[in-house]
Amino acid sequence: MQNGYPTLGLLIDGAWKKESGSGEAVLNPATEREIAWLPHATETDLEAAIDSAERGFRVWRATSAADRANILRQAARLMADRREAIAITITLEQGKPLGEARLEVDRVVETFDWYAAEATRAQGRIYPIRGAGIRPRTIPEPVGIVLALTPWNFPAFMPARKLAPALAAGCSVILKAAEETPGSAVAIVRALEDAGLPRGVVNLVFGVPAVVSSTILASPKVRKVSFTGSVPVGAEIARLASANLQKCTLELGGHSPVIVFDDVDLVEVAKQTAAFKFRNAGQVCIAPNRFYLHERIYDRFVEEMCGLARKVKLGDGTDTATTMGPMANARRIGAMEKVMQQSREAGAEILHGGERAANRGYFWQPTVVTGLKDDDTPMQEEIFGPIAPLAKFSDTDEVIARANGTRYGLAAYVFSNATATASRVVEQLEAGTVCVNVLAPAFADVPMGGKKESGYGYEGGREGLDEFFSVKTVNTQTV
Ligand code: NAD
Repeated sequence: MQNGYPTLGLLIDGAWKKESGSGEAVLNPATEREIAWLPHATETDLEAAIDSAERGFRVWRATSAADRANILRQAARLMADRREAIAITITLEQGKPLGEARLEVDRVVETFDWYAAEATRAQGRIYPIRGAGIRPRTIPEPVGIVLALTPWNFPAFMPARKLAPALAAGCSVILKAAEETPGSAVAIVRALEDAGLPRGVVNLVFGVPAVVSSTILASPKVRKVSFTGSVPVGAEIARLASANLQKCTLELGGHSPVIVFDDVDLVEVAKQTAAFKFRNAGQVCIAPNRFYLHERIYDRFVEEMCGLARKVKLGDGTDTATTMGPMANARRIGAMEKVMQQSREAGAEILHGGERAANRGYFWQPTVVTGLKDDDTPMQEEIFGPIAPLAKFSDTDEVIARANGTRYGLAAYVFSNATATASRVVEQLEAGTVCVNVLAPAFADVPMGGKKESGYGYEGGREGLDEFFSVKTVNTQTV
């Protein structure tokens, strides 16, 4: 067990269960050493979580929006007070540098604060009276018990993106956070508990993901599922939810194109895009993934990117000198090896990196690749790691078509100082988020969602809250 890492457990009906017949080791990806043991929920635990969430829902939906907001705000304060401890937990279990982990905690706090306020602004509408004296109005009602399934790349922020709006809306939640990174979810749930969240409003479970999701979604008491992860798993969740017609929000993968025209400060653009590309070792769904560089700046941009990749300081996230930590788990190393094999087979040139680094820990070198064609797999499938394929373009319409030429549609980036060019590209890109001359993260008050196979529904903003409401229409005879 490692110092600074919380004791793990399942929270079922207000009681922490720390032992179970089955479970798994949680590893520090920088050392591959075990830092804790995670108990798995049994089928009985999962049934108990559903029953508890049903009772919790009755209590929580009857709690005034102002009281719900106070608890969420208090939880945010506690998380802010515990910022350093949560950040260390994130780094120990996920690998990212401590500075990035601290910023992640800040965004968690911002998310709970923002949805606390939004809880009190959930309003319906009153419509004009009809001829027969009928007055229609609508009431937003919490949709019911929510199953929240979160991944390991942002182990604190991903649970916050689902818990905060669901709780603000008055739903109860069964959270299954990623088994690789359970400590951050435990810390968030503890803060909610300490802030006075009633028993059963949040249950936290871990287990074999497919067993947990199929068992919980088999219950018609559960009315909503919100999942963040890969496209194939998202499709499986949608299939499971279809049996009971549970509402779905799916935040799935991306393969974000970066289009750089020849009228920009390329040194600055390379600096910004490299920083975002190698942030969290590339394990960000909106990470810049495919670079399309205008032919007039291509050679210089490639040189800049290689220089920036060379400057990356790979290491343990707890070391202050580290700028890029390890990949989050062993599967990512296998995935990077596959991308490199596909690249080599396609005749690509590996200008920097391309290999695992160090004998211990899941470290992957920052990698720059050129010479891939549009239909080569690394240009078509999400990379989710620190590998940057760079390609050349000459014509605006051609590059828009190439940028749109995958099954994903999550984020896209365009760099140009010509307003007409940038506007034209923005209008035509098939992406849920387009950034112009900047790479921006997700904000608490702004919706984010995918197009095409990147999923449906929204997180963030008012739209993110609406995902957890169903609207009741009431027609009243007034005269
Ligand atoms: P994966 O697809 O097996 O798992 C992704 C996440 O889904 C994990 O947290 C896992 O616990 C969960 N999961 C898997 N099967 C599930 C099931 N049947 N029911 C419920 N949850 C389930 O892949 P992985 O190796 O963990 O991650 C690799 C891929 O996942 C990446 O290539 C990327 O596409 C995707 N991913 C996306 C995001 C994102 O922010 N959109 C985050 C993490 C991973």
